[in-house]
Parts: sequence; structure tokens; C-alpha cells
Amino acid sequence: MNFFDKYKEAFEEYNAMEKDFIDDDKIWKQLNRAENPSKIDVRKVLEKAEKKMRLEPEEMAVLIQNKDIETINEMYKLANKLKKEIYGERIVFFAPLYISSKCVNNCKYCGFRKDNKMVERRTLNMDEISQEVKIMVDEGQKRTVLVYGESPETTVDFMCDSIRQVYDTKCGNGEIRRANINCAPLSREELKKLKETGIGTFQVFQETYHHETYRKMHPEETIKGHYRWRLYSQDRAMDVGLDDVAIGALFGLYDWKFEVMGLLHHTIHLEEKYNGVGPHTISFPRIEPAIGTPYPSDTKYAVSDEDFKKLVAILRLSVPYAGMILTAREKPEVRKEVIPLGVSQIDAGTRIGVGGYKKSEGNKFPDKEQFQLGDTRSLDDVIGETCRMDNLTSFCTACYRAGRTGEEFMEVAKSSFVHNFCMPNAILTLKEYLLDYASNETKIVGEKAINKHVNKLEDEKIKNFVLKALERIENGERDIRV
Ligand code: SAM
Ligand code: SF4
Repeated sequence: MNFFDKYKEAFEEYNAMEKDFIDDDKIWKQLNRAENPSKIDVRKVLEKAEKKMRLEPEEMAVLIQNKDIETINEMYKLANKLKKEIYGERIVFFAPLYISSKCVNNCKYCGFRKDNKMVERRTLNMDEISQEVKIMVDEGQKRTVLVYGESPETTVDFMCDSIRQVYDTKCGNGEIRRANINCAPLSREELKKLKETGIGTFQVFQETYHHETYRKMHPEETIKGHYRWRLYSQDRAMDVGLDDVAIGALFGLYDWKFEVMGLLHHTIHLEEKYNGVGPHTISFPRIEPAIGTPYPSDTKYAVSDEDFKKLVAILRLSVPYAGMILTAREKPEVRKEVIPLGVSQIDAGTRIGVGGYKKSEGNKFPDKEQFQLGDTRSLDDVIGETCRMDNLTSFCTACYRAGRTGEEFMEVAKSSFVHNFCMPNAILTLKEYLLDYASNETKIVGEKAINKHVNKLEDEKIKNFVLKALERIENGERDIRV
């Protein structure tokens, strides 16, 4: 069978639909109706957001259209407050592991697109995957997202083998404890296999929610050219019980205002269809230059740093219980400013070339990479900065390993769980990092941050458990969690 026909029959389900849940005209109407909101309009929406209620598109549109500096600052302040209340003063850390740069698609903006002759093509074999994982673990990583192009080499069986290989690779005191997946949309049968193998989050970015722009960016004859096959990826995952799903948009393909609304409509669609369970995380990558790929520097939709800050805060206010991921595509200065506006996860020590952990040692290798990274600092440097900013780095994987996903995760996220579980687990996983991998400088700021946050634990029982567990970790025990 021709590889391009792989999902031909499966596409029928979507071709037969009269419409999908993204109505471009309706989104523009919602945005246009909210133009020039008054301070009163904005504050009314902020009052609702403060109650940690998911906003409606009409309310989000008011925040998007707000140009008044005073109330924009109020938005930032509230986004920061919600982040602290819901997620605590901690940031979950991960690093991607690029498995294959081979791809049959031709997305205009991506360095891995089929027609790009300037990128070296490679798929890691199982030994190479182990070698990469060992380097990552040796740097202190505990969580990863495996990234694949779409090609006959990266079948779902290959993906399952690669996931098992990642989990089976041990090195010293460490191992990868959670592997998420970022790959092309899959069929339900394929997704079942991923679920059985045991993945964390299943992540697919819609890239752009705008139908016409999607068509322009993704040639029709490619698999990725099918908008709805991609739009309903998370539905198919949920249908087979893979209930930890992630959405995202690539900012710079179309008007950011529209894309943020698209992300909210997608969230609402999932919540309505799957018993209140929306996306586990939302990603909002901005387009970056990529070798042999003119599109990123030509786009008229590039998002400015100011608008980027605004859109991150608006997402935090609108979808309070979704995790928000800010990647190393962004420069350190931008990350520092944007993280307090609602980000709950970042990657650090990131390499995005296939085989990049082995090769790079911090250098850039554009002919192997999908795009150029903005933050090439080491994991240790970023952890040091995070601790100095009074946040804890967390490598916690407890919920996923205890099976608290989907509906169960949403329930705990909405209670005071974070302060009694997530903060203690952040403290314990950071302690492991400090003992096993940290530089002296990071050890000092890290210990300071741990002391401060242990003292902030309100529940005496939990505080005592944490103090004893810290001692046990000092004595050589690992992977203790609440
Ligand atoms: N091939 C799979 C797909 O397209 O869904 C998954 C992996 S792709 C390597 C991961 C994501 O990288 C894409 O979904 C896209 O949002 C992002 N990306 C592609 N080109 C980019 C660029 N030039 N700058 C920033 N992000 C980019
Ligand atoms: Fe392939 Fe994904 Fe890049 Fe598109 S974004 S060319 S599908 S790797």
C-alpha cells in the first residue's frame, strides 16, 4: 500500500462530517464583537477568572481585545496569582528526545519537511536511543517527550519499541520515569498500542486552527494535509482510554488572536465530549528559523514579545486547570518574563537534533535540527535560575505512575492536592537532582529553595514526612513520593 493511503479509509469518518468544531466565521465574530472593551468589561471577566472558572470564548475575546495598559497589568497579576494557587511555586522540567527526522510531509515552516535537502535524515536505532537516554539521565533528566516525524520507519510498533527502550534504560541512580509522545495523528488501533505500552501525555499540535491557512501550510496530497484527521487526534486518543492529551498551536502561521480562540474552542470541545476532561497541557510554540526553510522569516504573522506575554496570561486566565508548556524555542530573557504569567512546564538542557545529546554538548547543529533553539543553557543553569526565582524545579511523575490521569487528575487538580502532594514531590525530586547531578552553585541555591518551601508546608503531617524523606534521600534512597 502507498504510505500516503495509510489512513484513507479512516479519513472517511471526517470527510462525512458536515462541519467540525472550529467555525472560523464565528471566531472572528466573537473577536470583532469584543473590540475596544471598557475597563469595566475587562474587570468583569477577571472577576470570573479569579474564581478559577473556565472562560467562554466571548469572555476570552474581551481579554484578547484589551489594549488598556492598566487592566493588562491586572491580567498579568491575576494570571500569576492563579498559577501559584493552582500549581504552587514549582515548574515541572522535561527535555525532548528526537527519535526521527524522516518525514513524508511538507509543512512549509518545518526543517524536517520532505523537500528540505539541507537537513541530515536519521532515525535512531534502539542502541542509539539508549545512548541518548543515558546522557539525558546523567544530566539529571527524569521526564521526556519523544518526537517523531511521519514516515514508514516510524510505525506505531517502532514507537512502542522506542518507548520500552527509554523506560528500560537505567543509569546510576536515575532513569526516565515518564515518556510523553509528540507524533503525527494516529488511528484508534495505533493509539491503543501506545496506551498498552504506557505513555504519559499524547501530544499533537493543530499548528493553525484557521482552515484556509492550514491548507496553505500543509500540501493537500500529504497526510498532514487533512485538517480534521489532525483536529480529532485527541478525540481518538480519548476514545481508546488514552485520557492524557495535549493540544497546541504554532504561533506565526496566522493571527495569534484567532489561534488563542482556537485553543479555547478545542478545550471546550474536549470538555463537553469527555465528561469535563480537557487537555492535560497546552503548548504555544512560536515559529523559529529553520535551515533551508524560508517561511519562518517571511511570515507576516510573527508574534511580538508583548503579544506573546499577553496570550500566555490570557490562556492561564481562560483555562485555569490546563498545564501550560513554554519551550526552549524561547530565549532565556523571554522565558524569565513569561514563566510567571502562568507557565507550569518548561524544557531545559534541550537538544533537538536526532542524536543531539551525544553530539552537541551544548552546541547547535542546524543541519540536524528541526528549527533553531532560543535557550541552549544547560539543565543545571536553568534549575539554578529557577531556584533563584523562588520556584522549585519538579521532576515529579507521581500522578502518572499512580494512574491519576484524565478525569481523576482533573478532580485532584481542582482540590488542594497541589500543596499536599505536588509541592512535597517537587521538593523530593529536586533533592535527588541536587545530590546526584547539581553543580556546587546550584546545590547552594537549590538547598535554600528547598528549606524555604519545606517551611511553607502547612500540613504538619506532610511536613514531617517530607523532612524524614529528605533524610532518607541523603542516605541513598531514591524515588520516594507522596
Ligand atoms: N511530526 C509530528 C507533527 O508534525 O505533528 C510531530 C513532531 S513535530 C517535529 C513537533 C512540532 O514542532 C510541530 O507540531 C510544530 O508545531 C513544531 N514546529 C515545526 N516547525 C517549527 C519551527 N520552524 N519553529 C518552531 N516550531 C516548529
Ligand atoms: Fe514532518 Fe511534523 Fe515537520 Fe510537518 S512538522 S514536516 S509533519 S516533522
